[in-house]
Amino acid sequence: MGNGILVYCEFENGSPRKTAYELLQKAVALGAGPVSALVIGGGDTSTLGANGATRVFQVDAPQVASYSTGAYVKALAAGIAASGAATVLAAASSPARDAFPRLSARIGAGFGVEVTDLRNEGGKIVGRRPVYAGKALVDVNILSAVGLFTVRPNSFPVAAASGGSAAVVAVDAGLTDADVDVKVIDRVAPANKAIDLTEADRIVSGGRSLKTKEQFDEVLRPLAAAIGATVGASRAAVDAGLAGHGEQVGQTGKVVNPSLYIAFGISGAIQHLAGMRTSRVIVAVNKDADAPIFQYATYGIVGDLFEIAPLLTAELRKHS
Ligand SMILES: Cc1cc2nc3c(=O)[nH]c(=O)nc-3n(C[C@H](O)[C@H](O)[C@H](O)COP(=O)(O)OP(=O)(O)OC[C@H]3O[C@@H](n4cnc5c(N)ncnc54)[C@H](O)[C@@H]3O)c2cc1C
Repeated sequence: MGNGILVYCEFENGSPRKTAYELLQKAVALGAGPVSALVIGGGDTSTLGANGATRVFQVDAPQVASYSTGAYVKALAAGIAASGAATVLAAASSPARDAFPRLSARIGAGFGVEVTDLRNEGGKIVGRRPVYAGKALVDVNILSAVGLFTVRPNSFPVAAASGGSAAVVAVDAGLTDADVDVKVIDRVAPANKAIDLTEADRIVSGGRSLKTKEQFDEVLRPLAAAIGATVGASRAAVDAGLAGHGEQVGQTGKVVNPSLYIAFGISGAIQHLAGMRTSRVIVAVNKDADAPIFQYATYGIVGDLFEIAPLLTAELRKHS
């Protein structure tokens, strides 16, 4: 039986992503034994100790310079074995969504997918996840010796780092070029420098009612910029060419979990709700008082978005 919690910490441009700190701090708060970090590839690991890790297990090899399923699953399995942890946490990012099902099968570990809460029940970590497009919540109890959980970003707050340092333990996963099943030829950064939707803490989203791309850009994007929010859209808006595919929120788009989600002219179809229902505060602006989105909104404004959005933008700019 393993002991403690291992957090798989993802990096971007050489530094840990915010989700690494979120999960390390939550792991400490769970109080289920020692907390360690798992890092795959190079990068500055110096802040991981200050956020709760007592040890950093690092798999660094040329084969993990870029993500590929085969090499990362092997590296994750080696890191977990080296740590001896009973529970492994990772952010529900695109790579983790790809790697963790295979990892679960490879090491025979139970897997709680995209949980939004975790608790310690007598030393055993139990996850809670939304199902049926967020209509119900289920508890995930893992019976195997090692339990894996992917956690929806922004599920837990991130406090200031409290100090401390972690010893780095190099792990040899025995990687060879045969493990690299995908070759990365190029990386193209999106022109838009906003935080990725799945990790954004504030989102301003628009629906088909914005009518044209020009109006979407002129009405919604300045409002998002005023509060440092990332822009999202309904599928109807994306299909109509008002916003990019990467901006779609929902069942067939991105699942988001921000502190604040402002929906302009979005009806609140079940497939849209599936992607944003767990947002902490939902503000809906819709001219139809019976629009389904109002059943889920924390605050609602019944009115014409073309009047309300500019007023809100001007007001929010005063405070930014
Ligand atoms: C298999 C499947 C998967 C899907 N996946 C997704 C998904 O991932 N994401 C997603 O979003 N949808 C998805 N959909 C589509 C979904 O069912 C809805 O069609 C879509 O969400 C509707 O988008 P909308 O709210 O922008 O448009 P509409 O439903 O047309 O709603 C427009 C809203 O704007 C309001 N409005 C109009 N003018 C104004 C104005 N001037 N001011 C204020 N309010 C105004 C209207 O009252 C209305 O409520 C999926 C559907 C299927 C079948």
